[in-house]
Amino acid sequence: MKMVINGEWVGSLSDRTYTVKNPANGEAVGPAPLGVRDDVKRAADAAEEALSRWGGTSSHHRGQILTRAAARIREQAEEIAIILTAEQGKPQREAIDEIRGTARVFEYYAGLSSNLTATVQHLEDGSEATVMREPIGVCGAIIPWNMPALLMAWKVGPALLTGNTVVLKPATATPLTPLMLAAALHDVGLPNGVLNVVTGSGDEVGEEIVRSKQIQKVSFTGSTQTGKRIMTLAAHDLKRLTLELGGSDPMIVCGDADIPKAVAGAVAGRFYNAGQICTAVKRLYVVDSVADQVIEQITEKVGQITIGDGMKPEVKMGPLSSLQGRESIRSVVRQVVDREEGRVIAGGELPQGDEYIRGNFYTPTLVTDVVPDSILLREEIFGPVLPIVRVKDLNEAITAANSTRYGLGASIWTSDLKTIRTAVSGLKAGIIWVNQHLKIPPEVPFGGVKESGVGRENGLQSLDAYTEAKTVLVRL
Ligand code: NAD
Repeated sequence: MKMVINGEWVGSLSDRTYTVKNPANGEAVGPAPLGVRDDVKRAADAAEEALSRWGGTSSHHRGQILTRAAARIREQAEEIAIILTAEQGKPQREAIDEIRGTARVFEYYAGLSSNLTATVQHLEDGSEATVMREPIGVCGAIIPWNMPALLMAWKVGPALLTGNTVVLKPATATPLTPLMLAAALHDVGLPNGVLNVVTGSGDEVGEEIVRSKQIQKVSFTGSTQTGKRIMTLAAHDLKRLTLELGGSDPMIVCGDADIPKAVAGAVAGRFYNAGQICTAVKRLYVVDSVADQVIEQITEKVGQITIGDGMKPEVKMGPLSSLQGRESIRSVVRQVVDREEGRVIAGGELPQGDEYIRGNFYTPTLVTDVVPDSILLREEIFGPVLPIVRVKDLNEAITAANSTRYGLGASIWTSDLKTIRTAVSGLKAGIIWVNQHLKIPPEVPFGGVKESGVGRENGLQSLDAYTEAKTVLVRL
């Protein structure tokens, strides 16, 4: 597949391609162009050229294109989901959910098209103050491989609705799904140059997007480490930034929680997408009085997770996206065992059998008796490993939950309103779920505190994130 610059499907100026591989079996899914700096320049030129025309259309018109794109994506959901599973590894059911969720995000932004209004105030000196919101300009969007469709929509939806043009870089592992979505947007009439997709590495294409003087804003989703690098580079010309970074979400189960629901929530929250979600349940804190019950039920449920190629209907958990990712999980679990940082009570190994040999599979893993300074509780573990920690009470749970550098999401499971209030005010996170975890509807702002990010995506706040306020003071 080629990349899209100025509405044309082109190869890289480097003339080089690389092979996208299926993480379930190592087979080639297809070639993608290996973009270089000059490709970013071509894309930024096209985006700059398209800017005034696109920004000059009505928001109603832009919303209509998003509505049509959503319909097109829904029509093609199964076709796109097959490519998503092939390049990313997630089970088909999750891939279809993600593609439908992507359409839903475009529908949400289309629905906001009549909300782009200016405000007028009469001031005490008799002036009239109008505050308009203008597009920022050409926006760079850099996305990871774990949810390549949804995270593309979180950036492209509000950017296009508010009249910006975009240069997007997908992750090297998953360029094909974003390219199919870009094709769907062009099929329904998105003008040339408004959305350009340049495939290639983070070091070359990603950094050039951040360095380019033609690009005024960068919205990045990925690791905290890369986010810090981007912030340093962007400081050079004070580029606008939205950074959605890593997380180590705690889930707290209280003594009065609905235990079967909490158990189902923990298992889905940790093992969906093989644990590769920024807001996955990465640490489970359970109050002593129900800990044995919770551990027993989670162990039973985890034993029922069928691992395999995501194209097989019975498969509940696919491979990890990369061999490097799988090896990093493997070495973390080895460290935990070697240093006696916890006790592995399920998984903790590679699955056995011929069907797993060529894929990046790892068994769903549970670790109990985790020591407080274990790597499992300090760092973001981006794979199917769940540390379970017993706590005396809610206060101890909140203190432990807040004891990382991350602050993306957190959940509290209880039936008591007072407990909910205490947890909501005590937990340091951008989003707090009560008796659920993981769901992020497009209607609500999403983003992290501490080292989980800067700024918010989704919700009405995202309209501010893609516009600049321009104030006009009139005195006649
Ligand atoms: P990553 O930071 O390695 O890569 C993300 C993207 O940045 C990729 O497209 C990559 O090519 C590009 N990139 C890499 N180096 C770059 C550089 N120097 N300059 C510019 N671009 C560069 O992250 P990943 O491993 O692909 O994704 C996993 C991480 O993403 C996890 O930490 C996860 O928590 C986080 N994540 C966060 C959210 C959120 O909304 N907060 C959502 C999903 C994933």
